[in-house]
This record gives sequence, structure tokens and C-alpha cells, in this order.
Amino acid sequence: MAIKVCKFGGTSMADGNVILSVAKIVKAEKERRYVVVSAPGKRYGADVKVTDLLYKCAEAVEAGNMQELEACFGKIRARFLHIEKEIGKDIGLDVELSEIEEKIKDGAGAAYAASRGEYLAARVMSAVLEVPFVDATEIIRFKEDGTLDEASFALAGKVLAAYEKAVIPGFYGLGADGKVKTFSRGGSDISGAVVARAVKASLYENWTDVSGFYACDPRIVNSPRSIPELTYQELRELSYMGANVLHAESIFPVRSAGIPIRICNTFRPEDKGTDIVQYATQSACENPVTGIAGKKDFTVIFLEKSMMNAEVGFAGKVLNVLTENRVSFEHLPSGIDTMSLVIDNEYLKNGVLETVLTQIKEAVRPDKIYTHENIALVATVGHGMANNIGTSARLFKALSEAGINVIMIDQGSSELNIIVGVDNKDCNACINAIYHEFFN
Ligand code: ADP
Ligand code: ASP
Ligand code: MG
Repeated sequence: MAIKVCKFGGTSMADGNVILSVAKIVKAEKERRYVVVSAPGKRYGADVKVTDLLYKCAEAVEAGNMQELEACFGKIRARFLHIEKEIGKDIGLDVELSEIEEKIKDGAGAAYAASRGEYLAARVMSAVLEVPFVDATEIIRFKEDGTLDEASFALAGKVLAAYEKAVIPGFYGLGADGKVKTFSRGGSDISGAVVARAVKASLYENWTDVSGFYACDPRIVNSPRSIPELTYQELRELSYMGANVLHAESIFPVRSAGIPIRICNTFRPEDKGTDIVQYATQSACENPVTGIAGKKDFTVIFLEKSMMNAEVGFAGKVLNVLTENRVSFEHLPSGIDTMSLVIDNEYLKNGVLETVLTQIKEAVRPDKIYTHENIALVATVGHGMANNIGTSARLFKALSEAGINVIMIDQGSSELNIIVGVDNKDCNACINAIYHEFFN
């Protein structure tokens, strides 16, 4: 029988009533055998995600503020006890919550604390579905450098083979030091992908609160179009650039195994959603653009030197400075006598930018070196852009008509994307202008 792995995100686990509707979705198809869950997310705009509360608890302990811990953990306790009531089953969460609070108080650390949201959510889902709970520490392992250990695929496959059905908490696993370790935020998407790979699923269903991947963030453009089909590569470009509907790293476990991902809406399960596939099955449509995404807070370092192109080792020396300062760069657009380094602001805090600039000046003696801080990168992505004449002309005309100043341009060598750097404050206007040019 074909196996489907279903991952339910935070909004799908937000309260007991939604959890009961998730159970209906799971039970509607017998192929839905393995379920991965996130911690309860926001129930309404101003609500706080359980994971955020748990991180706050760990911070309070770190700061020795036990009053804050109690207040914060009290909110988590109330949420889970309310969920337990809503599902109409006594599953002993009160005792579990007390044990967890004690461990956090004893300094179990941020990763352990954060992981408990998923742990408890999976306990709840396992009880509702009457399907065994399998802990993520049994199946997901991290390497010493903190990245996912690919041995997890075989390990998870072996462990899960003993279960016809299982509920597994997302977001965490066991670190190389034998302690609980989490992925980065939104990482339950990766857990779901690992499980899909391990059980050789025919489909990885990712259930969230939108009817698929939209052409851009619905919080930026009003009611954008849903994308029926997206390639893994397009997804990677868009999610990396801020379309956080799916974690950018969640494709790696499934891509090489050829397992498609479907984004589905828990609140509108009948909607078609988005299929993420290896190769586009729909013939290149008239629209060369599939989607647009943007990310703020980058710095661009511009370098100019005449005859730069003829100077052997110029780029190597510049990149060496970055390596020595443990700075990673996102893009490296260059011309004959110019080069720009696009770097996430995170790497340049606490005087690192000044050090990097001084060392670059010493290393390559540029004619000019200057920076643009607080830049947003906006990526326009689509496999249909290759060989489509006039896409960039339309894009830049739309930006100029919207009065947006383009500070940097980079086109990926695969012609899958065009990236523009604009001021942070122009980011949303830039996405809107591109969207309306290609989708209206
Ligand atoms: P979950 O808790 O289910 O994992 P997330 O909040 O991580 O859900 O992801 C879903 C959210 O991603 C949506 O509610 C939406 O606001 C946001 N989002 C950003 N970009 C896009 C996009 N291009 N298409 C759809 N949703 C997007
Ligand atoms: N609960 C975690 C977070 O809020 C992981 C996830 O939802 O995927 O980031
Ligand atoms: Mg998510």
C-alpha cells in the first residue's frame, strides 16, 4: 500500500478543536500512516506560539528569574490542559507538564525546552488518533557540526518499520552529544521530510493554514494566486528568500528519493494546494514567473578597481578575508572592474563589518570600496524564465514605474531567478510591483 506522511504545522495544532479536525483528515485516507506534528502555534493574531513561550522559559532560567519562568510556564500549562479538555481525554498531561517544568528549572537548556512543544503536541495527537507515539530522539540524529545526520533515514526506516502507524513530534532529534537538539525555526517541515524518506512514502503532505504555495507572501500582496505546481529548485529559491511556508532545507531528504511534497490547507482540505515535484509536468506556461519572495537586512560591499579582471587571485583574496572572519556571502555579482559582496547583516554585527572593510583594503587595494546597509533582496523565480526574452525588461520597467531604486542586480546562472537589491523600506512595494506586472 502506498504510504503518505502528513506533517501538521502550528496553526493546525493550535487548539483542541483544530486537532480534532486534523484527526478527521488523517482518518479520511488509510494511506496517511505517519503523522508529524508541530507545537501549537497562534490561535489569533496577537497570540504567542508555544515554542516562543518555551524559549522564554529557558531564557528566564538562564537569567535566574524564576518568577518569569513560572508565569511563562503557567501559560503553556493552561494551553495544554485546555487542549486536553477539548479533546475529551485525560492523558496525564498535568504530570508530564510538571516534570518538564522541573527539568527546565534545573537548567535542561533552550533546545530541550523548545522541543517540549512538539513532544506534548505529539502526545495529544497520538491519544486522539489512538496511534502509537514514537519519539523523535529515536529516529532523528544530528552530526557533531549540528547538521542533520543522513544516517537518520535508515535509522528512522528501521524503527518505523515496527509500526504500521505512528505519531512523531517534529522539530527535534538527538544531538551528537546525546542531548535533545532542534532544527532551526520551522524545522518540523524537515522532520516530516525525514520520515517521508525513511518510510519510502509516495507523498509527503505538508498541512498548513494556506491553500498551497502562493506566487508571493499573502501578508504582502492581497490574495495572490496559488501555484499549482512548483519544482524543488523553484521551491528552494523561494523558501530560502523568505517564502517561509516550507522550511528551505525540507526538500533535501525527499528530493533525491523522488518523493513529491503537497502543501495542503487544514482549514480547507478540499482545496487543491501545491505539488512540489522534481520536474515540471506542466508545459512552460505563458507566464515565465512562478513566484516572488523577499528577505530584508543585507549589506552590500561594493568594490571597484580598474583592470580587476586581469589581476590574478583578486576574488580569492577578497573571499579569504570573509573566510578568516567566518562571514558567509549570499551573492557575488561582478562586472569587469567591479565586484559586490552581498552579506546577511547577522554576520557583520559587533564591528565585524569594519574589520572586513579594513582587511579587504589591505588585501587588494581597491580604487573604491563602499557599502549599502539595510538592503532587501527580492527574488523573482521561474523555470520559464530561461529562454524567455523580455522578462527582465518587464521586471525593471515595472520597478522604475513604481519609483523603486534598484541598488544591485544578480541573475542566477541557471536563469531560474533574477535577484534585485533594494532598500529595506522598498521591499514590499518591490514585490507588489513585480507581482502586478506578471500576474495581473
Ligand atoms: P505552519 O505553522 O503550518 O508550519 P507557517 O507559518 O510556517 O505554517 O507557514 C505558513 C505561512 O507562510 C502562511 O500563513 C503565510 O502567511 C506564510 N507565507 C509566506 N510566503 C508565502 C507564500 N509564498 N505562499 C503561502 N504562504 C506564505
Ligand atoms: N515549533 C517550531 C517553531 O515554531 C518548529 C515548527 O513549527 O516547525 O519554529
Ligand atoms: Mg512552518
